[in-house]
Amino acid sequence: MEPSNYLKIKNQIPSNVNILAVSKGFKSQEIKTINNIGQVDFGESKFQEALEKQLILKDLKIKWHFIGRIQSNKIRKIVQNFQYIHSVDSFEKLQKISSISYQEKKNPLIMLQVKLGNDPTKGGFSPEHLILNWREIQKLKNITLTGLMTINPKGLSSKENKELFKKCRSLADSLQLPDCSMGMSGDWEEAIDAGSTWLRLGSLIFGERS
Ligand SMILES: *Cc1c(COP(=O)(O)O)cnc(C)c1O
Repeated sequence: MEPSNYLKIKNQIPSNVNILAVSKGFKSQEIKTINNIGQVDFGESKFQEALEKQLILKDLKIKWHFIGRIQSNKIRKIVQNFQYIHSVDSFEKLQKISSISYQEKKNPLIMLQVKLGNDPTKGGFSPEHLILNWREIQKLKNITLTGLMTINPKGLSSKENKELFKKCRSLADSLQLPDCSMGMSGDWEEAIDAGSTWLRLGSLIFGERS
């Protein structure tokens, strides 16, 4: 892991776009190195792996983001240990997050995962469902909805990637949500062009996962 890698990327990104350093598969020590040069936001997708690192790194100033598939029986632990949740993919899970957050006196920042491409392996709200249920969603307590999150299907051209990202941006705009969590190591430039506010970067920062 080369700190210079991180700084190089950081310098290429407009100041209104945030970097989420996706540290799944990487060690606590590597998180520490990046944190030492100013990165505060880290994303993990496996809950158990994340808790182990959080314990080791508990004295550092880190904001933890959950970006993995949410299992209902893990929601309490996620709410207890993460400030941001990017991967809420159904109304039922959102309701459960809300009621557990209320019990735990928490108020996580939420980005709702939307399904824009036809990738059967990815979940998420359909734009229609989101718009139709928007009033109900806004009534939920102890959550702060800040934006939408999307993962593009693999193998798209640069142009196709950008078009899907633009759909995410315009849906977020129409719901008056400031954030779009979109763009990974392979498509971050398109995501910036389309209006991303959170790039989720793993291998670009940390190198290839073993
Ligand atoms: C792993 C992961 C990333 C980062 O992937 P890279 O290609 O390593 O940048 C981003 N978002 C999600 C949801 C992930 O699971």
